[in-house]
Amino acid sequence: MSHVVCEPCYDCKYTDCVVVCPMDCFYQDERMLYIDPVSCIDCGACTPECPVEAIFIDSDVPTRWQSFIALNLERTAAIKGCSGPLTEKQEPMEGAGCASRQKV
Ligand code: SF4
Ligand code: SF4
Repeated sequence: MSHVVCEPCYDCKYTDCVVVCPMDCFYQDERMLYIDPVSCIDCGACTPECPVEAIFIDSDVPTRWQSFIALNLERTAAIKGCSGPLTEKQEPMEGAGCASRQKV
């Protein structure tokens, strides 16, 4: 079991989630954030912090985003080789794919 970051995080990266994680599970690439399933203890602290509802426990990931379960594992494994976890809030990207803009 693990928590999973899904598509709404694309181009947003508000990073409200990273500051509450007790296990420093969050990694980022140029598109979005991912949760390291190896480190996640399923405490659930991150889920209500995400303003675009991008985080789910793996058993509750919506059908259309099932591929993000494997993607979080693959991307965190790759990113770990070159950089550490993201632990401090950063300026959001709010790029073209930002879910918050699509709501406006
Ligand atoms: S708070 Fe949500 S949108 Fe922001 S970085 Fe975390 S998972 Fe992504
Ligand atoms: S569920 Fe807890 S341990 Fe897992 S990523 Fe979220 S805050 Fe971190």
